[in-house]
Amino acid sequence: MSDLHHPQTRMTQQRSVILEELRKLDTHPTADELYQIVRLRLPRISLGTVYRNLVFLTESGQIMRLESAGNTNRFDANMQPHQHVRCVCCGAIADIFPPVMAPETDRIHVPGFARILQSRIEYDGLCEKCAAAKASEEAAAYYPNSA
Ligand SMILES: [Zn+2]
Ligand SMILES: [Zn+2]
Repeated sequence: MSDLHHPQTRMTQQRSVILEELRKLDTHPTADELYQIVRLRLPRISLGTVYRNLVFLTESGQIMRLESAGNTNRFDANMQPHQHVRCVCCGAIADIFPPVMAPETDRIHVPGFARILQSRIEYDGLCEKCAAAKASEEAAAYYPNSA
């Protein structure tokens, strides 16, 4: 039985559309980027609703929120253990499979800290698009009179 006018049903339907669209992407979109996609299917949905559903899906363990510095507003439906590389130039994010083993934390002692709970490995990189743009910039600087 589905009654689309029932608020509870509408909420569940919105949430499953959000989850479905996030699962199609490997770009780790922000709430706003996902909102732009979801609204094509649900024209009346608001950014706030998308955001609240993303928080719910994160808290219920169905998706992940990226926790690296500066990326806390990005979401990932891939729940396999993996790591991320971020382009220092444009911020594009890609997955790294399989993840590189994190160092043991139980032998690390830090003054003032009772224990270390976990470690996180993340990578900075240069995506192919930015690398190509940089290369042509460098070529133009090196051969200023050509072309
Ligand atoms: Zn880039
Ligand atoms: Zn990922």
